[in-house]
Amino acid sequence: MVRHDVVVVGAGLAGMRAAIEASRYGVDVGVVSKLHPTRSHSGAAEGGINAALGNAGEDSPEKHTFFTVKGSDYLGDQDAIAVMCADGPGDIYELEHMGAIFSRTEDGRIAQRPFGAGGAPRTCYAADITGHVLLHVLYEQLVKSGVTVYEEWFALDLVTDGERCVGVTAWDLVRGGVQGVEASAVVLATGGLGRIYRGTTNAYACTGDGMSMAWRAGVPLKDMEFMQFHPTTLKSNGVLITEGCRGEGGYLRNAEGDRFMFNYAPNAGELASRDVVSRSEQTEIDEGRGVDGTVLLDLTHLGAKRINERLHGSRELAMDYAGVDPIEEPIPVRPGAHYHMGGIDTDVWGRTVMPGLYAAGECACVSVHGANRLGGNSLLETVVFGRRSGAAAAQDVRRDGMGGVFSPSAVRVTERAIGRMLDVNEGERPYVLRQELAEVMYEDAGIFRTAEKLEACKAAVTDLRERYARGVVVQDKGRTFNSDLIQAIELGSMLQMADCLVTGAIARTESRGAHSRLDYPDRDDENWLRHTMAHYDDGEVALDYKPVTITEYEPAVRTY
Ligand SMILES: Cc1cc2nc3c(=O)[nH]c(=O)nc-3n(C[C@H](O)[C@H](O)[C@H](O)COP(=O)(O)OP(=O)(O)OC[C@H]3O[C@@H](n4cnc5c(N)ncnc54)[C@H](O)[C@@H]3O)c2cc1C
Repeated sequence: MVRHDVVVVGAGLAGMRAAIEASRYGVDVGVVSKLHPTRSHSGAAEGGINAALGNAGEDSPEKHTFFTVKGSDYLGDQDAIAVMCADGPGDIYELEHMGAIFSRTEDGRIAQRPFGAGGAPRTCYAADITGHVLLHVLYEQLVKSGVTVYEEWFALDLVTDGERCVGVTAWDLVRGGVQGVEASAVVLATGGLGRIYRGTTNAYACTGDGMSMAWRAGVPLKDMEFMQFHPTTLKSNGVLITEGCRGEGGYLRNAEGDRFMFNYAPNAGELASRDVVSRSEQTEIDEGRGVDGTVLLDLTHLGAKRINERLHGSRELAMDYAGVDPIEEPIPVRPGAHYHMGGIDTDVWGRTVMPGLYAAGECACVSVHGANRLGGNSLLETVVFGRRSGAAAAQDVRRDGMGGVFSPSAVRVTERAIGRMLDVNEGERPYVLRQELAEVMYEDAGIFRTAEKLEACKAAVTDLRERYARGVVVQDKGRTFNSDLIQAIELGSMLQMADCLVTGAIARTESRGAHSRLDYPDRDDENWLRHTMAHYDDGEVALDYKPVTITEYEPAVRTY
């Protein structure tokens, strides 16, 4: 058993930023992460991070706020969005002072490029490896801060004393065995759940563990039905080709060579919001104007110099995984499951309804993205709300003291549950269920949804949950580096989170942002300008709703 004042679960950008901030308040901080911090999925972020610096055109936090509210299809909470956009410039300069090397303008300022539907060139970047650069800079700061890192510890469950969160249980991947991690405050920063879909841009580790832990402990999840499909992913494996390619002036063409986006978004074209571009691409493909299930991302007119300077990572990805050199020919791309807007319901300080529990980053939903996230806003969310949740957790601990009692029986209960999993020798293998889940989610809860498809999806997820509950076979019975066991545990979270997503999607009988219902094609503010809250009800999903915070901008028709 170990103990810290603040324990952060997850060591991506949100988790490390939270831990660094908490340590500044003089409290004892520990970080638990199933991956080594620099292997966290934030490192895959390519295109950049938004902040209204105004280095490439007129901009302001207010303008950033407005375009984020509009991009969210008015489901984002406007108070939270205003906080993020106001804090953004300060957080970027702080990252720079920590050592982040951003790309530069001719006169030495931080360069910025336009991203879809942003309304101004606002995305700061380090070529097209922004996440990699930021992750390493924060890791340096984490090491410097003296925070204790338990890397390759897999958090299993939140531990509560009936009222407040008092820690987590975790499986030590290196040595095997369940560890108790006692804390006065726990910050969940466990990232997204993209792996519940096939053809996703997300890494194998994006399995929704933290959301599922919170849900099982009785903390509601918000707006789970909203899954973003990114318009430019490679067909073969879902690898992302950054929106920065269109920000730098790339075109989308169909089989006839037409720049079709202007038929759908006459003003913004390729730089419309992601939900709009993904639907347009899918329509082109479905109506027979695609190229073998894809459309073409054409960068050839940008020239070798610009591509090599600003998009070299994307060029390498296209050459390695699609066999095309974008200097010479267009890249075939299609929409792929990319970012989950929903998550653990928090306030603007990362606090959840459970005392002692906080959340930040992609696993949280403070609701700055609403029904559709703007490119570049997620990295910003991780550092702004990572910092704020770390500060809140530390300040609350300093004010309130120790917190509740961590009963050692929590560790024994978890040990027994793991033992039962390892005892199963007959039944299905986890990967079979995982593949079926990813397939059905892509087919029936994808870009275009209908009641019929969603009901079929729910039935399939229910069936998968029942089969999982009967016991899946973990063939590796060992205790050290048992990735077979970890994948079986992750599958449980994925199934629960898929259920929350599809249940929310069935109920929401409107189209808003990334949730596009062919049977309810219009946005319905009268009935649906509200957040879905998914609660745990004896293993099942129970829904209720909560109002959206509107401060400045009344909902309006959203066109690009
Ligand atoms: C390919 C790609 C490109 C992107 N590009 C951009 C971009 O250019 N700009 C932008 O704004 N956004 C981008 N995004 C989105 C953005 O990168 C992510 O939303 C963001 O980085 C998530 O950060 P995070 O800290 O919340 O989670 P992550 O970086 O995913 O970190 C999660 C952490 O939680 C840990 N963890 C998870 N489960 C457990 C568990 N059970 N026990 C212990 N630890 C656990 C992991 O080890 C990891 O350390 C991109 C996303 C993808 C997939």
